[in-house]
Amino acid sequence: MMESEPVEIKPESNETIADTLVVGGGIAGMTVAIETSEVGKKAVLVEREPSLGGRVASMNLYFPKLCPPACGLEINLRRIRSNPNIEILTLSEVESISGSPGNYNVTVKINPRYINARCTACGDCERVCEIERVNVRNEGLDKTKAIYLPHLLAYPPIYVVDPVYAGDDRMKKCVEACQYNAIDLDMQPKTITVNAKAIVWATGWKPYDAAKIDNLGFGQYKNVITSLVMERMASADGPTEGKIIRPSDGKEIARIGFVQCAGSRDENHLPYCSAVCCLASMKQATYVRELYPEAEIHLFYIDVRSPGRLEDFYNKVQDDEKIFFHRGKVGKISENPENGNLILEAEDTLKGTYSKTEVDMAVLAVGLVPSTLESPPPIDTEFDEYGFMRVNETNGVIGCGTVIRPFDVAASVQDATGATLRAINVGTGR
Ligand SMILES: Cc1cc2nc3c(=O)[nH]c(=O)nc-3n(C[C@H](O)[C@H](O)[C@H](O)COP(=O)(O)OP(=O)(O)OC[C@H]3O[C@@H](n4cnc5c(N)ncnc54)[C@H](O)[C@@H]3O)c2cc1C
Repeated sequence: MMESEPVEIKPESNETIADTLVVGGGIAGMTVAIETSEVGKKAVLVEREPSLGGRVASMNLYFPKLCPPACGLEINLRRIRSNPNIEILTLSEVESISGSPGNYNVTVKINPRYINARCTACGDCERVCEIERVNVRNEGLDKTKAIYLPHLLAYPPIYVVDPVYAGDDRMKKCVEACQYNAIDLDMQPKTITVNAKAIVWATGWKPYDAAKIDNLGFGQYKNVITSLVMERMASADGPTEGKIIRPSDGKEIARIGFVQCAGSRDENHLPYCSAVCCLASMKQATYVRELYPEAEIHLFYIDVRSPGRLEDFYNKVQDDEKIFFHRGKVGKISENPENGNLILEAEDTLKGTYSKTEVDMAVLAVGLVPSTLESPPPIDTEFDEYGFMRVNETNGVIGCGTVIRPFDVAASVQDATGATLRAINVGTGR
């Protein structure tokens, strides 16, 4: 780990002002904060996690260009670092909102990081730490120390202590190992008030719970994984350091199945299309091709959704002689107990046949659920029947990114630009 510049952790006072308060520091929220500040307005960005980037920071590569997320994120982080008009509050959540468009008072709870701005991310504390915790970023497949750097691109680039262990006596060893006196296990939560003209809510999405789709064997068979696990497995900083192997025995992949619409376009689960899953699976098929040139890839779909120029990517993947597209929804996954392989049963609706395909591992392309279902803005807000925020002109809280609809990164960023402009106009009568 390279040593980084110390960063200032704001705010020092209990009150601050903003033109726009942005909630959610994923790609959509970061974009709003950056674009607001680059036109000379002040943005306060509230993020619940210890670092910015949201789901994108956990991807291996982006479709359609297949570049690493570091590209896009690093450009945004550079714009943030050089901008005095953005105040970032990590480990923070909005508790209440009062007031009206043009004049909101928002209380924000800032949870303790237990690390102060003197941290240089040297890693001495982590090396001596004896406590391990489940690594949520890696979908629970490995562990980190109780004092950890969220990831290599983390911003702010400093450590954090898992609050569960802040009071554990064993953490004192970390305090002693820190030559910068950067660890303060007595830090307390703090509540501040932000006076803002407008609020943009960009708290993103969660994956649909695959365990609810009981015919697809997730949680029952080890070799049924989700698309999120696949993304982390393929990542060099993931639990398998970039090796895509099946969980039951670490075997390399010879045949793999991608199960589209796992929960999406299904009236028993998510009746809507999650918009990004087809392209995400095609992207993941290219990960497998790269690692295992001889592997066979079977992708089961209802309809392939690849709008606009994304069709070029679909065409390219279709041309691959090792990637087989099967039109038909997988109705059942069962396990061959002799070898841990999975049997995917589907009706091929083009040929009118019924198929059974045996694979080493199955990847469920789970749908996107708006995070506002769990943590809606604490103010009267309108939602559609699936929990996505409606654009509500009357109370000035503007939904942005995947809280209003499933979007890919490019569409989330475009939506964020629109939300930025609308937020600037809140309370101006325009
Ligand atoms: C398997 C998979 C692969 C994908 N691959 C690609 C790809 O290759 N290319 C592509 O274009 N798109 C891809 N996507 C879609 C991409 O993930 C989304 O477009 C993107 O994450 C949307 O960004 P967002 O900012 O709206 O939401 P998020 O990324 O979810 O960010 C939301 C942020 O808000 C924070 N937050 C949540 N609740 C609160 C709260 N109450 N208070 C404060 N902060 C909160 C979160 O911690 C997070 O940082 C993929 C999706 C899936 C499922």
